[in-house]
Amino acid sequence: MKRIYLDYAAATPLSQEALDAMLPYFSEKFYNPSATYIAARAVKNDLDKIRAQVAAILEAKLAEIVFTAGATEANNLAIQGVMRQFPAGELLVSAIEHESVMAPAELFSATKIPVDSNGILILNKLSNLINDNTVLISVMLVNNELGTIQPLREISIIIQQVLEERHLKGNKLPLYLHADAAQAGNYLDLHVSRLGVDLMSLNGGKLYGPKQSGCLFIKAGIKLTPQILGGGQEFNLRSGTQNVAATAGFAAALKLASENRAKEYRRIQELRGGFEAALIKQLPKSVLNGSVKHRAPHLLSLTINGSDNERLMMELDERGIECAIGSACSASSEQPSHVLSAIGLNEQQARSTLRFSLGKNTTKSQLEMTASELAVLAGNNR
Ligand code: PLP
Repeated sequence: MKRIYLDYAAATPLSQEALDAMLPYFSEKFYNPSATYIAARAVKNDLDKIRAQVAAILEAKLAEIVFTAGATEANNLAIQGVMRQFPAGELLVSAIEHESVMAPAELFSATKIPVDSNGILILNKLSNLINDNTVLISVMLVNNELGTIQPLREISIIIQQVLEERHLKGNKLPLYLHADAAQAGNYLDLHVSRLGVDLMSLNGGKLYGPKQSGCLFIKAGIKLTPQILGGGQEFNLRSGTQNVAATAGFAAALKLASENRAKEYRRIQELRGGFEAALIKQLPKSVLNGSVKHRAPHLLSLTINGSDNERLMMELDERGIECAIGSACSASSEQPSHVLSAIGLNEQQARSTLRFSLGKNTTKSQLEMTASELAVLAGNNR
């Protein structure tokens, strides 16, 4: 039996387009883009074009894109980069951020902004938490366990109001909005001005591009303290010879994602709708987590009350079906998911929760088969 892969939120297979874009940089175009002879300058020229391509998709400027090795690095650069510029500044992060935001945020004793039981940030709580020293707010665009889409535009409006008040009081401290958009690229608009973000992290590994590729958008004028020091590449913000192949693969993947976005959104949403209906019908003790209205189409979080998610996940795996019990990055952790705790699930409910994530090779029959297998297994599990 062919395996059924339902963990696209953890990793996506490389597309042919991304691979084709990468290949020349492993062979004839292997040059270091910082070298000065003609062939190397041609590679530097390619890198500029790749950067321009990414910038155009985000409606950003060329110099606002810093290539990084994935979203973890971009998140660290955003958070540590801003916070080290403002030693007395304070940081707010949503309670459901990915570990790659949470861990650097802890270095600066960040305050967590609560979310409601649907996993949506509570805006008036955010407003109350902002004080005269708040310098950065980090809220993800799409949550990687629930799929919930956060109200970034509304947050940016709150920030504008705070900045106007600060201006009147003579407080010159900036207040930036950073968004981790690692789970959003295949399905949502990434125009930075429409989203209202000052900094935004993206990665290629979730977009059918290569792992360890991605970027941080940094709005012009924002100064960051770099973490990787050396030769001064990437506008002095990320030293090290650029991985031009990875950036080319990332840009090609992002381009394809933006071209396919509307169509894929509808297709995946429809598939998920059918899958959810089948799950609820066949597993009466199950509950879907996350907002029904504000949710990216590829993610589905299901609590099957009374079940053991780890056992279910392994039994599904033995039957050729691959899914997750939380985010892949924290799957080995002993702690129940902080995201599920933040929406009010108790430990037992969190340990009865599975995450399914759909992608380009997902079909209706795969999902039907998964729902029936799960119904049998969860029946045995209780
Ligand atoms: N942020 C979110 C929301 C994610 O889902 C992930 C990956 O799972 C990351 C960040 C980390 O991305 P990367 O593996 O590219 O460092």
